[in-house]
Amino acid sequence: AGPEEHRGSFLFGPVTLEDREDSVMLARSCDIVDGIEGTIGNTPLVRIRSLSEATGCEILAKAEFLNGAGGSPKDRVALSMIQAAEEQGLLSPGRGDTIYEGTVGSTGISLAVLARARGYKCHICMPDDMAIEKSDLLHHLGATVERVPPAPITDPGHFVNLARTRAKQHTASDSPSRGFFADQFESQANYTAHVRTTGPEIYAQTRGQLDAFVAGAGTGGTISGVARYLKLEAGLTSVRVVLADPQGSGLYNKIRYGVMYSSTEKEGTRRRHQVDTMVEGIGINRITENFEAGRSLIDDAVRVTDEQACKMARWLVEHDGIFIGSSSAVNCVAAVVTAMKLPKGSRVVTILCDSGTRHLSKFWKHIAAMGLEGDKSDEQQREEDLFE
Ligand code: PMP
Repeated sequence: AGPEEHRGSFLFGPVTLEDREDSVMLARSCDIVDGIEGTIGNTPLVRIRSLSEATGCEILAKAEFLNGAGGSPKDRVALSMIQAAEEQGLLSPGRGDTIYEGTVGSTGISLAVLARARGYKCHICMPDDMAIEKSDLLHHLGATVERVPPAPITDPGHFVNLARTRAKQHTASDSPSRGFFADQFESQANYTAHVRTTGPEIYAQTRGQLDAFVAGAGTGGTISGVARYLKLEAGLTSVRVVLADPQGSGLYNKIRYGVMYSSTEKEGTRRRHQVDTMVEGIGINRITENFEAGRSLIDDAVRVTDEQACKMARWLVEHDGIFIGSSSAVNCVAAVVTAMKLPKGSRVVTILCDSGTRHLSKFWKHIAAMGLEGDKSDEQQREEDLFE
């Protein structure tokens, strides 16, 4: 195959399952790819040996941190949103246009890389309680970064509202260039990127043999897109789709009880932006278009505490040499909980969103402070905690 075939399926429209199987076979080969876009997608599906042994099920994780632009599944989404905007004439490289986005980090990093590669400027609005390495990285990539205090979505100063306002202000200015608000929470180009790439890749990699798919939701794009592909397009209606939800998020209650907040649940009364959580990127207190797109396909939800996430992250380093960030750890806890409810030998697929290197100053510092690092004497106890 020539390099054209490795640029990512976005550039070539829908692909058949046979094509996908070919491209998965060819993925991560040493062929030449055209630009940084060519390193997006076709990520490996990794059998996590320790969790598979411990549960008696097969726990498989899509190594999305290996997407080569921004190192997360948001590479797929950023490319999809940019391509959709280019097709509609909302972005044009020769015009000095700027991409604006509200993001907790990953989408901003992917957009900043692709903006550089395609001739745009990038302006990111993000909450100021996210790990500092994310905004540092955005600075190095040449993006303008505005860090704002966490606020409810009804507040004009909320990072998403601010990004929308900045894009409008840009377009209204005298400059011939335009401001484009990427709008990952509401844009269809988000979940459809997963319908077109992540879902088909998982199908091809497992040959359609999987019992559950587990993922957290930030925008909801990943869980909705993969669920839609597996259940609606590939016809795998019996695959159990499970939401992994961190502390302070309202989605768990929405899926389990149909309401966003429950007065009987202490945590549910606190909004996500009020919770000092270690988990970045997933958990939300509103129903976005991207979550709504797959909501009816979600069968169950698992709530994961910060402590469980920290223990899981440490466990994966110790047993598997896998060094991941907080949302990936939440996904893995929920994958284990899901596996324990399924018959032995079942196959559970989840997502490893980003690397632990994005989370050194917060999540991993917290893990070290918990005394989980380097202390093997209570390993047995930790195993019991994790799998009880
Ligand atoms: N993990 C990380 C690190 C993220 O930044 C995000 C998105 N904000 C997610 C997971 C969740 O993905 P999605 O937006 O598709 O629900």
